[in-house]
Amino acid sequence: MEPQRSALLEVKGNVELKTPLVKASSRLPLPGSRLKRGPEQMENALEPAKKRTRVQGAAPKMNISRPRAPPLSTAAHTQSQTAAQKVPKKTGPRCSTAFASVVKNQKPVPAVPAVPAQKPATSAAPPVVGVKKPGKRPAWDLKGQLCDVNAELKRCREKTQTLDQENQQLRDQLKEAQQQAKTLGTERSTLKEELARVQAQAEQGQQELGSLSARVLELEERLGTQEGLVQALQKEQLELQEERKVLATRLEEQERRLQTSEAALSSSQAEVASLQQETAAQATLLAERGDRLHGLEMERRRLHNQLQELKGNIRVFCRVRPVLAGEPSPSPGFLLFPPGPAGLSDPPTRLSLSRSDDRRGTLSGAPAPITRHDFSFDRVFPPGSRQDEVFEEISMLVQSALDGYPVCIFAYGQTGSGKTFTMEGGPGGDPQLEGLIPRALRHLFAVAQELSGQGWSYSFVASYVEIYNESVRDLLATGTRKGQGVCEIRRAGPGSEELTVTNARYVPVSCEKEVETLLHLARQNRAVAQTAQNERSSRSHSVFQLQISGEHAARGLQCGAPLNLVDLAGSERLDSGLALGPGERDRLRETQAINSSLSTLGLVIMALSNKESHVPYRNSKLTYLLQNSLGGSAKMLMFVNISPLEENVSESLNSLRFASKVNQCVIGTAQANKK
Ligand code: ADP
Ligand code: MG
Repeated sequence: MEPQRSALLEVKGNVELKTPLVKASSRLPLPGSRLKRGPEQMENALEPAKKRTRVQGAAPKMNISRPRAPPLSTAAHTQSQTAAQKVPKKTGPRCSTAFASVVKNQKPVPAVPAVPAQKPATSAAPPVVGVKKPGKRPAWDLKGQLCDVNAELKRCREKTQTLDQENQQLRDQLKEAQQQAKTLGTERSTLKEELARVQAQAEQGQQELGSLSARVLELEERLGTQEGLVQALQKEQLELQEERKVLATRLEEQERRLQTSEAALSSSQAEVASLQQETAAQATLLAERGDRLHGLEMERRRLHNQLQELKGNIRVFCRVRPVLAGEPSPSPGFLLFPPGPAGLSDPPTRLSLSRSDDRRGTLSGAPAPITRHDFSFDRVFPPGSRQDEVFEEISMLVQSALDGYPVCIFAYGQTGSGKTFTMEGGPGGDPQLEGLIPRALRHLFAVAQELSGQGWSYSFVASYVEIYNESVRDLLATGTRKGQGVCEIRRAGPGSEELTVTNARYVPVSCEKEVETLLHLARQNRAVAQTAQNERSSRSHSVFQLQISGEHAARGLQCGAPLNLVDLAGSERLDSGLALGPGERDRLRETQAINSSLSTLGLVIMALSNKESHVPYRNSKLTYLLQNSLGGSAKMLMFVNISPLEENVSESLNSLRFASKVNQCVIGTAQANKK
């Protein structure tokens, strides 16, 4: 770049130089002297120069045009001096060199100014300044005028001569100038070429410069982008460094925690190992304890059974209901509950009923004597006894049922003596008045749950039927099955000891709620059956049966037994001596059926007690249905329910006598139904 640029500058310098050069030559002191010539002379003097100029071309043209410059120039050397002074100012050292060379070539030029020096202004303009013209001669002075004209002519000739010399000088000068112009023209064309070349170079340079500028711009732009990118990256780097720091801190933290965890883990592993050992030892111990527990459970069952046997496989409890609102209070001493040998703390087991024999009193005329009847049972419940107290006494029997012994609990007594109250409970769903059935089942579910901890699992299936007039009816029937279909008692299968009631529902139960639902359904079904004339519930036996099945899978043990809760029909008798109407005949038949089944029950118990070879189970549907729960391994409990009223004394005595007979029975050693 630099060399090109310097070449360009050089050319520029030369170009600028031209004008002053021309000016310098134009300021030659030609015009000053020319003014004094006549128009024709001047024209003639200039003509050859003009012609040459036209032939020579551009450079001389420049020289020629200049002579039209200020015509009054007198101090040519002053002007050239001024020009010479001006040029260096404008062009610098190079120009001054060029000018010097030009000035050098114009050797005659300094001679030109010498002309006016040699011929001062006085000679150039003598008529104006130097010579005083003689005043105008009068017209008649022709001689004087001729003399003047001759003088004038003489001056003109002299001047012409001078001018010719001057002209010659100028021609020489012109020639030289033309020579110089030619040289300059050559130089100019060289320079022009050089200029063209340099311009081309400059153009190329310009183009290159342009493309380079574009490139520079592009690069600058890219640089800008890159810088932006770099900044962004730097920012990102900073952020990443920050993040790295945070992560490093976290990593450290995690490592610390990991170390802690590892330490904890290793200690835990050690602990686990020791715990595993301990567990293994405990498992062995547990197995041993399980064996022992099982042994103890079996021992408990054996002892429990032994206790029940000692208490008697047939037990009789007497319960006297309270006097109800609106009922006459019995005379004091009608019913007495003498305390046991240990005093009042002993639960009562005896009952005394006093009865005046009216007929004997009438015959003798003396006041009727009072006969006292004493009875003793396994337990006596006076009128104030609560339901839970009653249940406590029978809960042991419920335990026996779970242990695999068949259990049968009866409620015996005349109508209105409190059988249903004892078995099912009082009205209104009062939990305190709940009877034996709901309490027994709740107890069973609770004990079964406890035994599940020892590996026993229990299931329960309930059925509820009534036996009316020696026909069986399902109390759990629902929908279309209600009151339809004849229920028959059949063996569960050929050769099977188990009995089942056909067309009756057997409902699996596992909680009290389900049992409540069943009892409610049974009550509804009973209400549908009864009429105003026929209070059927008191004329039929209600049998709630619960089949209990227990299994100890780990030891391959199974046990199962039925728990029967029977609300017997009213035990009252009809006076056969009375005249009976047509409706009462049916009632008599009913009563006979009831009496028959109740006496059959007594007979069966007697036969079992006496270990007779034939037990008359088949004599009634009730004993037939309950045969597996009577005798043998079975345990039996009979509640004898008594009315506290004096008017019921006869029936009460009958009930107490029946119960006493049963109470005297001892049925052989019970055997658990183990399979
Ligand atoms: P049953 O079933 O023997 O015919 P119920 O159980 O129906 O006799 O009892 C007759 C009436 O006596 C019912 O109103 C019953 O609520 C009431 N009752 C029976 N026993 C008791 C008792 N222990 N406490 C209070 N009320 C009783
Ligand atoms: Mg009843």
